[in-house]
Amino acid sequence: MAFELPELPYAYDALEPVISKETMTFHHDKHHKAYTDKLNEAVGEEGLDGKSIEDILGQISGLSSKARNNGGGYWNHDFFWKIMGPKGSTQPSGALKDAIDAYGGLDKLREDFNGKGAGQFGSGWAWVIKDSSGALKVTSTPNQDNPLMDDAKDKGTPVLGNDVWEHAYYLTYKNDRPGYLKAWWDIVNWDEAGKRFDAA
Ligand code: MN
Repeated sequence: MAFELPELPYAYDALEPVISKETMTFHHDKHHKAYTDKLNEAVGEEGLDGKSIEDILGQISGLSSKARNNGGGYWNHDFFWKIMGPKGSTQPSGALKDAIDAYGGLDKLREDFNGKGAGQFGSGWAWVIKDSSGALKVTSTPNQDNPLMDDAKDKGTPVLGNDVWEHAYYLTYKNDRPGYLKAWWDIVNWDEAGKRFDAA
């Protein structure tokens, strides 16, 4: 079974004004589609048929850069669409809210995350992960790497993640990556983030 490009869980314009319809359309239909197609090529070339994407990421250190870049791109974007939603529709709750309080509060989490995102040189991702102790940790990865990869410097289960590739924000924010990072918090789907936290 080949990997399939997942549908967006909302309309292309549902995240406006934070993320424009034009950005969402290119990001999903062109970029995520390309990662999906090239992942399927790598699966065929490297004998990975039948493995889940999580299995592939968990053995990525032994696979090609094609599998790494496109397997990461496939998983990261599927996650990204799901942990966003229409502006202001949810708030942190339950065990995730408790973990945020233990981290030092939402303002500190936002500040650390935005710092990681702004400080990631070139393309990559900022992450909030649940680490092996059950606590929240803020980290970043280059390119399409992620914290599920067996050779990640900070391993854990992603709870939140933001794409800081220029294709994620340039049409609207131009070179203002910090402005994009600041605005992005308005469209976090806290219900989905809480589910990811609880399942880890
Ligand atoms: Mn992207």
